[in-house]
Amino acid sequence: MQKPGTLFLVPTPIGNLGDMTVRAVQTLKSVALVACEDTRTSGVLLNHYGIETPRTSLHAHNEHGKVQRIVEKMILGEDVALISDAGTPGISDPGYLLTRAALDAHLNVCALPGASALIPALAASGLPTDKFVFEGFLPPKKGRQTRIKELVEEDRTVIFYESPHRIGKLIAQIMEFAGEDRQAVIARELSKIYEEYVRGTLKELAAWVAAQPKVRGEIVFLLASQKNSERIKLV
Ligand code: SAM
Repeated sequence: MQKPGTLFLVPTPIGNLGDMTVRAVQTLKSVALVACEDTRTSGVLLNHYGIETPRTSLHAHNEHGKVQRIVEKMILGEDVALISDAGTPGISDPGYLLTRAALDAHLNVCALPGASALIPALAASGLPTDKFVFEGFLPPKKGRQTRIKELVEEDRTVIFYESPHRIGKLIAQIMEFAGEDRQAVIARELSKIYEEYVRGTLKELAAWVAAQPKVRGEIVFLLASQKNSERIKLV
C-alpha cells in the first residue's frame, strides 16, 4: 500500500527574507504541492529561493472547500506544505482547519520551527518571559471590552496582535481597566529596516502614539501583569 504523505507547516519570514531557514527551503522544494494563503504574495518568496513546486491557494474564504481535496492528495501519498503570507501558518493565519483534517485522516503533521512575530517581540520586550499568554487579535467589537477586562487580571505577560490604526484605541481601552501606570511594549516592524521597541507605561505609550503623525507598520503589543508591572521599570 502507498505510504501516506505528510503535511508540513512551514514558517516564512515576517519581513526579512534572510529569516527563511535552510530546512524550510528544502521542504518547499521537496513536496508535491505548496498550499499558499496567497499565491501572488508567496510567489515573491518562492521565486527568490528558486522553489518551482506547484502552488495552490488556501485562504480563509476557500479553506473549507479545499481542505478535503488536499487531504485526499496526502492520503494518496503526496507530501504537501502549507505556508501563510508571513510567519507561522495557523498562528493568526489559516492552518488550523487543514491541520485538523490531516490529523482526522491519521496523516503525519510536521511543523517546522521558524519565523513568527510573537516570540521575538516577547524575547526583546524586557517583560517577563517565563510565563506568557498569546491573545492574537482581539474581536473588533463584540466581546472586546469583556476580554480586555479579563486579560488585565492575567498573572502572565499578555501578547496581542494589533493593526497600526487601532493601536491607540487598544491602549486607551486597556488603560480603562489596568490604569495608566501598567508597563507595556509596542514591538513594531520586527526584522525590518524600521524595527522599533517602544517601552513604558500605558500612559507613556499612549503619548507616543498621539505624537506620531500616523502609526505605520506591523505591531505586536505586550502587556505586563499587574504584579510584574510593579517590580520592573522599562526604559
Ligand atoms: N502568522 C504570523 C505569525 O506567525 O506571527 C501572524 C500573521 S497575522 C495575520 C499578522 C499580524 O502579526 C500583524 O498584524 C502583526 O500584529 C503581527 N506581525 C506580523 N509581522 C510582524 C512584524 N514584522 N513586526 C511586528 N508584528 C508583526
